[in-house]
Amino acid sequence: MQTFNKKIPVDLFDVIIVGGGVAGLAAAMTAGQSGLRVLLLEKTVLGGSVAVLEEVSEYPGIEKISGWELTQTIVKQARNSGCLLYDSIEVTGVQRSENGRFEIHCSGGDSFRARSVIVSTGGQPKLLGLKDEARFAQHGIHTCAQCAGARYKGRDAVIAGNGSHAVRAALHLVNLGCRVFFITGDAKIFGDANLIKKLLNHKKFYFMDGCHVATLAGDETLHEIEVANLASGNLQKLEVAAVFAYRGIVPTSMIVNAEKDAKGFLLVDENFMTSLPGVFAAGRIVYEDLPIQVMVGDGSRTALSAASWLQSAG
Ligand SMILES: Cc1cc2nc3c(=O)[nH]c(=O)nc-3n(C[C@H](O)[C@H](O)[C@H](O)COP(=O)(O)OP(=O)(O)OC[C@H]3O[C@@H](n4cnc5c(N)ncnc54)[C@H](O)[C@@H]3O)c2cc1C
Repeated sequence: MQTFNKKIPVDLFDVIIVGGGVAGLAAAMTAGQSGLRVLLLEKTVLGGSVAVLEEVSEYPGIEKISGWELTQTIVKQARNSGCLLYDSIEVTGVQRSENGRFEIHCSGGDSFRARSVIVSTGGQPKLLGLKDEARFAQHGIHTCAQCAGARYKGRDAVIAGNGSHAVRAALHLVNLGCRVFFITGDAKIFGDANLIKKLLNHKKFYFMDGCHVATLAGDETLHEIEVANLASGNLQKLEVAAVFAYRGIVPTSMIVNAEKDAKGFLLVDENFMTSLPGVFAAGRIVYEDLPIQVMVGDGSRTALSAASWLQSAG
């Protein structure tokens, strides 16, 4: 990560937001509109996981929009409200100093000061934990059907996992003409009931419950997997072009020393404040599997909470 080379005109921000996914962007926009001095720092690309989605169709008031257009519009709105937003800068730690201010340390050695912090760093998709998984990464093993699915148009693919994102991913793949094997250790599919019904009625959808992907095989790209039945231990070979892992996320919460649950998600109160007064959290760092519109709403609410906390803190 390179050293930050921008001249920042503010010595003390009201709020520094760590992570520029939809939750962080919505927090920035709302905080900016509330008159706060805001700095948002993003490790990779402003927009986070949503930026790469080909299509978002569940956002209220917008029938269909690309993830890129949706997120870059929020970036524009946040900048228009006076926020400073930067990409390609990784925050390595959040520290509270004795005067109650926060020091935000970055990988290039830069640090910034704020009166409050919003952590919206999301998480990394959990992989399958199988031999050769790294070798096939992006060559048959993926974690986003909406990003890589088009490469496998009309071919056989697997969704390994469960939950609402897995359901949307499966629907995306059957719509691309793929035959989709939905492999989960669970006895049922979790997610939107209407979408599940659609999938179960689709002639190219196969639900394999009580199973998991046990082995991966191929040369340069993935060609075949073995599926293990959890009850019997029986193995079944399947020739497939791709496996999409939907096993939830590992939250990126190590930069802040606040209370977490057993999986590492940050614990917050009804105002989205963590166990550290003045440090708030929003989005996928708090909840695992909720849709974009909820993350946006939570981001905005977190900013309003931070604004009223700052007012009461004086
Ligand atoms: C493959 C996939 C498909 C999905 N499909 C859908 C869908 O169709 N519909 C739907 O409603 N939801 C979908 N989701 C969920 C949706 O993407 C999330 O709800 C949403 O992205 C959460 O936003 P967020 O801002 O909390 O986290 P993220 O979007 O993950 O953003 C977190 C940001 O923080 C940054 N960051 C992390 N650590 C640091 C650090 N140390 N310093 C600076 N920045 C940091 C990351 O780079 C990232 O940009 C999908 C998610 C995935 C992974």
